[in-house]
Amino acid sequence: MNMHHITTDVLIMGGGSAGLWAAYRCSELAPEARICIVDKGPRDWGGLMTMAGGDFEAVLPPDNVDEWVQDFIYYFDGLCDQDLMEEILKRSADRLHDYERFGCEFFKKEDGSMKYVPQRGLDHVKLYPAQLKGRGGELMVKNIVRQLKQRSVERVGRILLTELQQQDGRVCGALGFDTINGDFYRFDARVVIAASGMGGWKTSYGKNTPTGETMQMTYEAGAVLQNLEFARVWNMPRLFGWEGQTVLMPLGARFVNAEGEPFMERYSPVLGSNTDPHYTTMAMSMEIRAGRGPITFDLSRIQQENLILLRPQNGWQKLNYDKLSALGLDLFRDSTEWVPQMTVSYGGLRADAWGNTNLEGLLAAGTARATEPGVYAGGFALMTTSVLGHMAGENAARLLQTLPEVK
Ligand SMILES: Cc1cc2nc3c(=O)[nH]c(=O)nc-3n(C[C@H](O)[C@H](O)[C@H](O)COP(=O)(O)OP(=O)(O)OC[C@H]3O[C@@H](n4cnc5c(N)ncnc54)[C@H](O)[C@@H]3O)c2cc1C
Repeated sequence: MNMHHITTDVLIMGGGSAGLWAAYRCSELAPEARICIVDKGPRDWGGLMTMAGGDFEAVLPPDNVDEWVQDFIYYFDGLCDQDLMEEILKRSADRLHDYERFGCEFFKKEDGSMKYVPQRGLDHVKLYPAQLKGRGGELMVKNIVRQLKQRSVERVGRILLTELQQQDGRVCGALGFDTINGDFYRFDARVVIAASGMGGWKTSYGKNTPTGETMQMTYEAGAVLQNLEFARVWNMPRLFGWEGQTVLMPLGARFVNAEGEPFMERYSPVLGSNTDPHYTTMAMSMEIRAGRGPITFDLSRIQQENLILLRPQNGWQKLNYDKLSALGLDLFRDSTEWVPQMTVSYGGLRADAWGNTNLEGLLAAGTARATEPGVYAGGFALMTTSVLGHMAGENAARLLQTLPEVK
């Protein structure tokens, strides 16, 4: 077995949305710095973003940040870090426009304005859907990786990081191993950014990479963690994998029980079907317990003109969609059974808006830092992870100016 030793200025643990954005911003502000992204998955795969729909929340005119913060205080039942949300939302439009500049396309209406889908019955929060349903996230990854290649950011795949290195109380690198041939790796760095995804354990189809090892290694090094008491619940078709209910619900989709009754009004009188998945999931379970299951998904109220937003045009969802069609099942025509599901246990590093943790030399970005109590609105994650990655990358570039070289 071989031992490899890589010296860099900034080590980014995880090449998902947050890690890629951190590298992008840091390389923009510190073009001479050596930046290395290490991921346990394939190089440049982009983490969960590869599978994402590409829907993006952003505060665009005439909306304003204060109104969105108010919406999130309500939506998170008060468990909202208001200052952090404000910092994130202030920068959301810039990241959306960056994606457009990189070549990503969002859905436009005939008059050229951007199409949006209001989220979860909230007054202001809305997502902007990617032009190509089923490929939006994959194209985001490709486009941002192209930027990193132009800036010579080093990217290494298939290395699982297992331990942080510390010297004189300061985080100064990490250890890991090659998941294919078992070789050991040591990375020495002046700044380490943890962008390695959610702290919890995988439970659902789409969350195979969150396995919690970064939480373990940062905790062992003395980092403060937060939100580990939360879990995220969701609802899924029983027979196949699908993503996109955050777009389907606001456009009129709803769950109905075995009696054909759209029961959500009983559990969520204000927002009805278009509410937080914690409520729909709980209500589904209660209906089933009361003998009114199974629960099916009713798409009959969705207008024809909106179906273009929902039918996958490529990627893994098209694969699923075609397989279903071959079995004679059409998601948009037939009623499908959906089940309550827990997607992932939650939590992450505690950090300020710029990603500073309690450990010197360690920054945190994206879902590795648990920004909310596991309550999801469509487009929220790609927005928050890009903004927080960008901010952590900027912070790393600033820190480099004050830190000695790594020998
Ligand atoms: C099917 C699906 C559809 C989605 N659609 C949308 C959408 O349309 N809009 C939206 O806003 N959000 C969407 N999301 C959510 C969004 O994609 C993710 O929340 C976001 O991309 C997470 O980014 P991240 O960088 O914080 O974490 P991740 O994407 O989880 O990236 C973390 C990276 O770190 C690596 N890693 C972890 N541990 C280690 C380790 N020990 N050593 C080395 N590497 C490690 C992982 O391999 C991974 O690549 C979707 C998610 C899924 C699964």
